[in-house]
Amino acid sequence: MPGIYIHIPFCRQACHYCNFHFSTSLRYKEEMLQAILQELSLRSGYLEEKELDSIYFGGGTPSLLTESELMRFFDAIGRYFRLRPGAEITLEANPDDLTPEKVQALRHTPVNRLSIGIQSFHDEDLRFFNRAHTAGQARASLEHALSAGFTGLTIDLIYGAPTTGQKQWEENIDIFFGYGIPHLSSYALTVEDRTALAHFIKTGKVPPVEDEKAARQYEYLMASMHAGGYVQYEISNFARPGCFAVHNSSYWKGEPYLGLGPSAHSYNGASRQWNISNNAGYIRLLQGSSGAQALIPGLFETEHLSTATRYNEYVMTGLRTIWGVELFHLRQMAPAYENYFLENIRPFLDAGQAKQEGDTISLTDAGRLLADGIASAVFMVGETGPEFRM
Ligand code: SF4
Repeated sequence: MPGIYIHIPFCRQACHYCNFHFSTSLRYKEEMLQAILQELSLRSGYLEEKELDSIYFGGGTPSLLTESELMRFFDAIGRYFRLRPGAEITLEANPDDLTPEKVQALRHTPVNRLSIGIQSFHDEDLRFFNRAHTAGQARASLEHALSAGFTGLTIDLIYGAPTTGQKQWEENIDIFFGYGIPHLSSYALTVEDRTALAHFIKTGKVPPVEDEKAARQYEYLMASMHAGGYVQYEISNFARPGCFAVHNSSYWKGEPYLGLGPSAHSYNGASRQWNISNNAGYIRLLQGSSGAQALIPGLFETEHLSTATRYNEYVMTGLRTIWGVELFHLRQMAPAYENYFLENIRPFLDAGQAKQEGDTISLTDAGRLLADGIASAVFMVGETGPEFRM
């Protein structure tokens, strides 16, 4: 079943590694909320199915929204959609926002899952990242969320930073276990173009990220999480059984979703849309709009997915998840795709980096370290549509 993603493009300060779309000025917050609600009303027909499995407030920093601002979204969504009983409703939150009062206020909304951007429980790391919170606030946010009764909880942790030694990394994971949180998303520090981090490395202000160190910390992460009873259901995501993220899993399983807000993406099985990544431009387009979405030229770009693109996306996400790549799915696209995949995954099967169980091929722990390289080895390059022949 489908989901809705709502992008709240504001942050208190810019983290040095971040290349997401956001503004550090809250000046046009009200205009932005009205514009997103307008986009919802114009594009509610995008999803054929009217029962939602998930709503996800991402950003940016959605925890900057007040209870009443959040309720405006729920009221508006309720005009066009129904929520499946038990639907997952996630709000990304920064630790510095999660005061006891804020967490209590969130309990009065339909939000039932908090995704808290902890990143590290060490101040040196947090200063390096230019996060707005401290290690003390990271711990306090979890304590407040737990005492308010939030059982749907996930946190983010970053490994591989120059300030994160092995000892600090192991402590981060120990602290995570100590809180009994059911879900963890953990990513290597990556240096994205046009970020402060990229500039600091280029100018020698900070040392470059060491891939070898990140790989060792990732291996430690996988071993600890497996030993702790967590399932690695995606390359960067670990959950207790029954606690997989519904919304993110729907992306990986190719379910349709509607993305609202500047820079948000939408997917309907046949095409993808990318909303304009400019707050002022987005507001301007929506303020002047009425009627059908076709009347808003410039709101989003559309890519119609060729069979080859769908193949590439499917094998990439399949190899990153425990659901793997199902050969019958490739056969449905075209028999030649199955042959192409089998031929190119063979060296990784032989090397023990991938494994086949029945009709499904997935990566082993050794393969997960090389996931991007393996995916690119089985990708199709160039224009290879349904008429593709091996
Ligand atoms: S809070 Fe999140 S979205 Fe905002 S700058 Fe930091 S990493 Fe980026």
